[in-house]
Amino acid sequence: RVPVTALLQRPADAIVRPQHAAHPKIPLPGDLFAPERRNSRGVEFGARAALDRLLTEVKAETIDLKPIADATPDQANAAMAAARAGFAAWSRTPAATRAAALEQAAHLLENRAPHFIALLQREGGKTLDDALSELREATDFCRYYAAQGRKLFGNDVAMPGPTGESNALAMRGRGVFVAISPWNFPLAIFLGQVTAALMAGNSVVAKPAEQTPRIAVEAVRLLHEAGIPASALHLVTGDGRIGAALAAHPDIGGIVFTGSTEVARSINRALAARDGPIVPLIAETGGINTMIADATALPEQVADDVVTSAFRSAGQRCSALRLLFVQEDVADRMIEMIAGAARELKIGDPSDVATHIGPVIDVEAKQRLDAHIARMRREARLHFAGTAPEGCFVAPHIFELGDAGQLTEEVFGPILHVVRYRAENLERVLQAIERTGYGLTLGIHSRIDDTIEAIVDRVQIGNIYVNRNMIGAVVGVQPFGGNGLSGTGPKAGGPHYLAGFATEQTVTINT
Ligand code: GLU
Repeated sequence: RVPVTALLQRPADAIVRPQHAAHPKIPLPGDLFAPERRNSRGVEFGARAALDRLLTEVKAETIDLKPIADATPDQANAAMAAARAGFAAWSRTPAATRAAALEQAAHLLENRAPHFIALLQREGGKTLDDALSELREATDFCRYYAAQGRKLFGNDVAMPGPTGESNALAMRGRGVFVAISPWNFPLAIFLGQVTAALMAGNSVVAKPAEQTPRIAVEAVRLLHEAGIPASALHLVTGDGRIGAALAAHPDIGGIVFTGSTEVARSINRALAARDGPIVPLIAETGGINTMIADATALPEQVADDVVTSAFRSAGQRCSALRLLFVQEDVADRMIEMIAGAARELKIGDPSDVATHIGPVIDVEAKQRLDAHIARMRREARLHFAGTAPEGCFVAPHIFELGDAGQLTEEVFGPILHVVRYRAENLERVLQAIERTGYGLTLGIHSRIDDTIEAIVDRVQIGNIYVNRNMIGAVVGVQPFGGNGLSGTGPKAGGPHYLAGFATEQTVTINT
């Protein structure tokens, strides 16, 4: 019997990726439970019995979907004051105790997997694949930041100095960190931000996306239960107005934000305009992410990776592929294969295990995407349009553009844009990527090492994926985050992230 928690295991060495020639078949994005997915101990993630049991347990969960009230401005101010008061004790709590609370949180999350999966499905519209990988990512963040935090915050670092003097460098919390998180990873990114800020010794006021407050409420309860004092962690629900009020607050010690570039800019302006200390903004924003597939790429692999990158999670990942550059010589065949693979995708009820694409987050998102599709139908060549059921669903679409410049903004849904390029014009492709101003993810499909190296050298992009899909960065394996309009760094899930939440103190003693 494989325990349910085996489905959640994701040690870094367990990731077995299909290799080019070895897997000519095109596994669909939903094919997470294929038997070749084993971890290093030979345990199958996909053990059917464990999966069936998990599904039964998820179904049996009752989730109360009554609306959660928005916080008032007074409540937001009260949360800031309480967090400020809570900072003193939490920042003096030993790093090992802080880390142990995060590890306990990971443990509780795993034990309550069915509940959190049900929440992610019913409030966040996640498919089972997406809910499972998000839960893994959430536990990975807790454990990774705990491990990093023990190293960084556990001991002061002795610095060299002349005889008769001791010098030491310590890392400490900055004060109250405001954490503003998105709806597309309502558990993983919410917990990633909050646990990093707490591990660094800050107290936290968290403001989750207005679409997914319930997951945040439960995640905060779980952290409190795991040992984070109530005085160190506070939740403030509401829309962007509450976020803006928090960003303008004079008492903040720092802000971590994941969401749109436009909101990151407005936070920057609010920070600059307010009274109070000068504090850091750690922003992770969007991108017009591209992939380049040349004539040497393996078409089956390209089709599989494009479908996963563009359509999985209904394209609602900031890492998702938006614009595919494909070499003219192979373009017709590649586009046909991609459309063929997209045709196989099942769109609908996210609680059905066979579903590949669930709903988009809300009616406004659907309207925005429908308007973009209507514009593309007029301005571009339609290669594929899937069919979606009634409701908040958007079917995958593939459009060919005459020019990359036609795509001027991030389109946060399952819509792929394709542009053909001639081999001799690769430089123009790179210039077009540069012109977007974004720098989050890039895919390269080529079997020519010189081409791959030349592209990697040339672009300023945070996460580059070669000959594979370009989503699903793994904590501690692929530190994630972009440059330029895509964010500030440091990268989430990377070894430098916690330092961004801390301040340093040097103590010199004349002995
Ligand atoms: N880290 C996620 C990934 O690699 C994306 C995060 C986001 O969408 O904000 O797919």
